[in-house]
Amino acid sequence: MARPSQIHIDLAALVANYRLACSLAPKSKTMAIIKANAYGHGAISCAQALRNDAPVFGVASIEEALQLRQAGIKQPILLLEGCFTADELPLIAQQQLWLMVENSRQVDMICTADCAVPLQTWIKIDTGMHRLGLSPAQVPRLFQRLLQSGNVASSITFATHFARADETDNDFTQRQIRCFQQAIKAFNCPTSLANSAAILAWPEAHADWNRAGFMLYGVSPLNHVTKACLQLQPVMELTSKIISLRQVESGDGVGYGQQWIASRPSTIATIAIGYGDGYPRNAPDETPVLIRGQRANLAGRVSMDMITVDVSHISTVAIGDPVILWGKQLSVNEVAKACGTIGYELLTRITSRVPSHNYPSGFHTS
Ligand SMILES: *Cc1c(COP(=O)(O)O)cnc(C)c1O
Repeated sequence: MARPSQIHIDLAALVANYRLACSLAPKSKTMAIIKANAYGHGAISCAQALRNDAPVFGVASIEEALQLRQAGIKQPILLLEGCFTADELPLIAQQQLWLMVENSRQVDMICTADCAVPLQTWIKIDTGMHRLGLSPAQVPRLFQRLLQSGNVASSITFATHFARADETDNDFTQRQIRCFQQAIKAFNCPTSLANSAAILAWPEAHADWNRAGFMLYGVSPLNHVTKACLQLQPVMELTSKIISLRQVESGDGVGYGQQWIASRPSTIATIAIGYGDGYPRNAPDETPVLIRGQRANLAGRVSMDMITVDVSHISTVAIGDPVILWGKQLSVNEVAKACGTIGYELLTRITSRVPSHNYPSGFHTS
């Protein structure tokens, strides 16, 4: 017996989503972004599932990359934010990690580093996101400095990142593409622009390398439904079970603060999942869960270990019934929307308290 909150990871769906990203951009190579523990899905098992398909992985730090190396992942791994301190550089070179270079301080660190082998570098250009990247005006001089340092391999890839590619009706992505093309036109180097949203919605952004993150996990990053995003298969299912059931009278309050008040005699199910598992504490009463194939809504505040749900309309409900918090039949995006956030955040913040199970050949929930 065990507490019933669980994560189920459909690794076959992960591979199918990766192949979809490749088929949408047949002229590009597709890097698999598995930072933040593969957006909460388990970086090592996701990398192992993709090891025969993905030529390169992308992560946010050397710690994340070394964890993959220790698990036997041999592919190049791109550090998307570059190095944080100069002492990382010899290890980055030795471990065949690829390095984003996004500010002049990182260029200084690279030029003065003592590396046994040249670093594989990508230069990130700020084309409008204004978070990371060299300004277009800095690029020619810093590019030359890197090459002359002798510490970098001669093939440098130019990259940029989009601020609004999820908005399929906003032309800022096209402005960023034009800015990027202008900034790199004097160089004959490989390029990389597209994240998941741009892979799905902006074919003009497909380049030598695309960087697929969120879509690998089977959820759409777009603000509008497209044909391509209907083919995505959710990878994570978060489930638990009903651990208690009770009748309440009209006028009774449920949970901390008695925030939810029954407007009629109601059946309340208590489910073993809470903010201590990473379920969002700010989830309002409209937030859906799925029980016996039917939707039911939260009733009252999310506790650390439990939620309460109004199941009055589900006549056959019983203690022990499985509950889907999100997954294949209930999109994490829908839960996120109710909570005023995005699916990315809900997926990445599930805590290690919730046991995770991998399904290499997929699963179907009834
Ligand atoms: C996280 C990240 C991505 C992946 O973005 P998604 O929206 O998850 O596809 C791509 N590029 C960079 C630089 C990133 O940091």
